[in-house]
Order: sequence, then structure tokens, then C-alpha cells
Amino acid sequence: MTKVPKLFGSMVFNEQVMHERLPKEIFKALQTTIKTGKSIASDVADVVAGAMKDWAIEKGATHYTHWFQPMTGVTAEKHDSFIQPAEGGTVIMKFSGKQLIKGEPDASSFPSGGLRSTFEARGYTAWDPTSYAFVKDSVLYIPTAFISYSGQVLDKKTPLLRSMDALSRASLRILKLFGKTPDRVTPSVGPEQEYFLIPKELYKKRPDLIITGRTLFGAKPPKGQELDDHYFGALKKQVLRYMEDLDSELWKLGIFAKTRHNEVAPAQHELAPIYATVNIATDHNQLTMAVMKDVAQKHDLVCLLHEKPFAGVNGSGKHNNWSISTSDGENLLEPGKDLKNNLQFMLFLTAVIKAVDEHQDLLRLSVASAGNDHRLGANEAPPAIISMFLGDEITDLFETLASGKEYSNRVGTKLSTGVESVPVIFEDTTDRNRTSPFAFTGNKFEFRSLGSALNVACPNIMINTAVADALNGFADVLEKARDFKSAAFELIRNEYIAHKRIVFNGDNYAEEWTTEAKNRGLLNLKSTPEALSYYDKTKNVELFERLKIYTAEEVRARKDILLENYCKVINIEANAMCEITGRMILPAAIKFSAELSENIVNIKALGLDAPVQSELLATVSDLISKAYAAEKKLAESVEAVKKNTDLQAAADAYYNKVFAAMQELREHCDKLEAIMPKQLWPFPTYTDLLLYV
Ligand code: ADP
Ligand code: MG
Repeated sequence: MTKVPKLFGSMVFNEQVMHERLPKEIFKALQTTIKTGKSIASDVADVVAGAMKDWAIEKGATHYTHWFQPMTGVTAEKHDSFIQPAEGGTVIMKFSGKQLIKGEPDASSFPSGGLRSTFEARGYTAWDPTSYAFVKDSVLYIPTAFISYSGQVLDKKTPLLRSMDALSRASLRILKLFGKTPDRVTPSVGPEQEYFLIPKELYKKRPDLIITGRTLFGAKPPKGQELDDHYFGALKKQVLRYMEDLDSELWKLGIFAKTRHNEVAPAQHELAPIYATVNIATDHNQLTMAVMKDVAQKHDLVCLLHEKPFAGVNGSGKHNNWSISTSDGENLLEPGKDLKNNLQFMLFLTAVIKAVDEHQDLLRLSVASAGNDHRLGANEAPPAIISMFLGDEITDLFETLASGKEYSNRVGTKLSTGVESVPVIFEDTTDRNRTSPFAFTGNKFEFRSLGSALNVACPNIMINTAVADALNGFADVLEKARDFKSAAFELIRNEYIAHKRIVFNGDNYAEEWTTEAKNRGLLNLKSTPEALSYYDKTKNVELFERLKIYTAEEVRARKDILLENYCKVINIEANAMCEITGRMILPAAIKFSAELSENIVNIKALGLDAPVQSELLATVSDLISKAYAAEKKLAESVEAVKKNTDLQAAADAYYNKVFAAMQELREHCDKLEAIMPKQLWPFPTYTDLLLYV
């Protein structure tokens, strides 16, 4: 493994490569852009483009692409070769600064929520120099932002970069009050990614997985996750080989893949990287998901990133670890040893508390999707109610301040394992709570409601924006204060009292919490359509406009895109269910009933009774009728939704009517699966898919 440092980043045009290949002053200019977020001069871009091209060609690249993140949820790329005609029918390889900085993909087919009608379809991609270019599959990838010609945002990256700027500006105002003047403050994110691996041969036999990414049918297997023997269990050889290959592919791309382990459900695993600046972490996470799928193919496996590929066993999430630090390397959410005198930490933490309470709806809707609806509130992911966990120590600090008393620091208690050779460890004073959607974990917050397939840009746009707004509000007050320290304490006290309803350190899965949260006035937005209906509330539009993240029009466009996407996903799932029922499940069940009746006739011809066969036949026939009726009802509900002209009403109907009808159909079909002979069932079962060797 001595090769890892050499392998790491070998396909990335990173700082070291830039240092080696760029003239000194160009390197310096580019570094200034990267570190401060300032824009780049065109002559600098020309030199960078030339060096980038030469380097990429050495790495085997023939093409380049502006890589961007449209509202589809996946990344987009269009490859252009470097060739340029030269004399005598030859070509030279060329790449200019202009081509590096700006691209013009034919943008008419990307969702824009009505922002860009097709006759003015042009949009352009703009280089994000803060995220390194890389070579993958003989293509030079250039991370970019995607905007329309009139400047409206059409992607997930532009608002993320804007929210980072807003957060930086607001944080710098507060830091200035403490006499600190770093260049910039940046949010960092470490997304822990869960996924399933299943054999490719079996995947190919499941049309539901192929069409929708999840199983639409499947009886509960005799053995699921009840023995808790998979979590952190020894890795199967095939899976281990996959993970080794995955790690090295990610390392080549400069992604800090760090931790790998088995998850709770059988065939479920997790990969956690070391954290990075949020726009880079976002790019890397998108890339990680793509590489996970690619590498699986090589190992005769399929990587499922859907939030709920299998009913009855845990789904997959993505924990978004978020913190903010200065360009001088100070983590602003680090409580330090002397908590009671760490006014700066308290201010930043108070801003997060206020942000989460005031914008519960935005946090909730940023993780809303048809797939994630299966998880939130289903005792495996945090509930749909957004609350935050601060841990005993921090809660104690704020409660003491709120009551007007003096706080005294706690001392960590020694935890002993009782075994002499094992070192004594100090108890982590910010103890863990796995059920909280938004938990303080020592020097960062862990937002746990994200689904595994989500682009992490959206939740981080919300967190950055909401926290920036709170910090700006604090700065407005404190910049005018005569006695900064006492004004700051008073502000912390008042804001904590105003927002402490959002703090909940108890069990978020407990039923009592739903009632208590309601009493506290917290939101409980159970479905995607309900959550999305909050997107363009006046408070939210004003927030985004105030911080220059989105215009009102852009907010509404985004809401429409997400609502439309929800409708489409449920529509595809419903259609797939009808087709699979009609063409695979019912024919199989009818065949079984024919075999049974033939058998009964034969036995009766011998003058004997066939009570078991008769009972089975009755049950199968009954389920066939029920499944058939449910399929018809589902198809009708889909037709009925199409009559809605209002997008919100359509999404509501997809949730209340279509999704409900899907569950009913599934129930009958799963019962059929449980009594049918295995060889007659038309596709692999949960046991086949999950418990492979
Ligand atoms: P645990 O989940 O047990 O708390 P770690 O403390 O190792 O595990 O962190 C989990 C994730 O949080 C990792 O991806 C890690 O990189 C990330 N992380 C750690 N510190 C920060 C930070 N300051 N900002 C953002 N993410 C962080
Ligand atoms: Mg974690």
C-alpha cells in the first residue's frame, strides 16, 4: 500500500500539478482566485488552459467536457475533442482560455421550471476554478456552473457558490468584532454515503430495479436485518475486492475516501470521505456516486443508490457533516476547552440554532424526494420533524445562560474498558444521538435526513443561507453595541430562549415526540409534495432575495421542477407496477392455479379428496382477483391525476391516491409471492438479492 500517496490525485490537475506546470505569476493569480473566490483574467485563463490540455493529453485524454449539475439530480457532460484542423489534412490538439472559461451546451432539454422557453434555449457553463479539473475515461472534466443567458441559475452549483459567499461575508462581519480578519470563511462537508450491492445477473431479472432503482414488489425474507449481524461485519471477499477497487479509483481522482464498512441491512455498505470545502465535497460526492456504479459493473455487481431499494430492511441515507472554518484554519464550531469563555463559539452556535428553527421547512424540503419519503419517519432515518441535538453539555451551557446564571465548565469523565492493556479514553462530552435529524457532534453538525441519491448541494445551500442570514442579523445588532461582550451575551440569551423549541436531545423515533413537537409548534411535513409547498412562502423568498441566492422567479422555478420530478417518479413507478403485475405476476399466478386445478381434477378422478390443494387454489384465486382489481384501480388513479392542471394538486394526488394504490397492489402481490412455488415466481426474491455470497 506504499503506492497510495503516488496514486492519490494522479488524475487531478491539482495545486501541485499547477505549481509544476504553470509560470510563477500565473500560478499565483490562479491560487488567488481559488483561495479568495475572485474572478480570473482571460490571459491567465489562456495559459492555464494550455497547461491543462498538455497535462490531460499525457494522461490519455482526447476530449474535454464542461461538467455540470443541472436540476435533474445527476451530472451532465458533453464531450468535445481537442482536435483542430491544420494544414495538409492534419490536426493539432488545441484548448483555449475561452473554451476553459465558458461552454455552451444545448441546454433546451434540461429542466428549467419555465425559466427558459425553448426558443431562447441557450444557457452556458462557467468554469469553477475552485474545484480541480480531472481526467476520467480519456476525458478532461472541468467542473462548471450552469446559467441561462439572462443570468438565471439553472443548476445546483451556482446557488451553492452564492450561499458560500453569503456565509463567508456574514461570518467575517462577526469575526471582525473579535478582532479577527481572515480572508475567507468556508463551510466544509463530509458526506457519508450508503449504498447496496447486488449481483448483476439477478438485477437484470428485476424489471422494477432496472426501471425505478427500487423493488416495487418483494415479500419479506425469512432473514432480514434482525440479527444485527451485518453492521460492521466482516466483508465478503467479492465486496472487499469491490471496495479496494473503488478506493483506488476514487483516490486517483483526488477523493479522500477514508472509511468503509458494512451497514445495518444485508448487502448494504457505507463509504465516508474526509471532509472538504462544500462545493468540492459536492463535486466529489457526485463523482463518487458515478464511480461506485461504474466499478460495480466491473465486479459483476450493481450498486443501488436509491433511498429504499428494499421494503422491510433499512434504506440508504447520506449524513451531511457540516462545519465552518476560516482561511486561517480555525473551526468556528469548535467549543474548545474553555467553553464558558468561548463567546465566539456561542455566537456561531446560536446562529445555527436560530437558522434551523426559523427555516425548518427549507431544511426539510431540501431532502424531500419520492425515494426519501420511504425513509423519513419510518424508524430508520430521523423523522420528518426537524429538530436539533446539542448534547447535554452544550444544552446545559445555553440553559444556564438563559437563566441568567454563571456557567462552569464540565470536565470529561474517564471511561475505562476494564482491561489494562487498553488505554483509558476520555468520555466525549458531546455524546451521540443517532435519532436526531441535526446533531451537534463535537465540532460540526451532522444533518442526517438526506437520502442516499441526493445531490448534497441543496441541503447545504439551505444551511449556508439560513446561517448567513442569522449571522447578518447578529452583526447588525453587535456592530452598533457600545459594550460588545454584554450585548453579545444578551443576544445569545434572547435568541436561545426564542428558538430553544428546536432543541431536542431525546429519542426522535418515540411516538411521544410527534405530540410534543406539535405542542412546541414544530413542523411535521410528512411527504414531498407537502414539504415543497413551503418553498415559495414569503419568508423564504425574502430570505433568498435578501442574500442574493435566488430571485423569487428562480425559487418558484425550482419548486416546480421538484414537484414535476416527484410526479414523474411516482408515475413511472405506478406504470411499471401495472406492467409487471399484468405481464409477469398474474400470468405466473394463473399458471400456478392451472397446475393446482389440474392436480385437483386428477386426484378427484381417483376418487380421493385434495383439501390442501383446494384451499391453496382458493387462496391463489382470491389473490389473483384482488391483485387484478388493485392493478385496475392503480391504472385508473394514474389517469385521474392527469386531469390536474395545477402542479401542486397533481403532486398531492400522486401522493394521496396513486402512491396509496401502489401500496395496496403490492400487498396482494407480495402475498402471492409468499405462497407460490419458487420456480414459478417470475423474478429473484429478496433472499436471492440480499443474501448472496
Ligand atoms: P463519526 O460519524 O463517527 O462522527 P467522524 O468524526 O470521523 O465520524 O466524521 C464523520 C464524517 O464527518 C467524516 O466524513 C468526516 O470527514 C466529517 N467531518 C469531520 N470533521 C468535519 C468538519 N470540520 N467539517 C465537516 N465534516 C467533518
Ligand atoms: Mg456519522
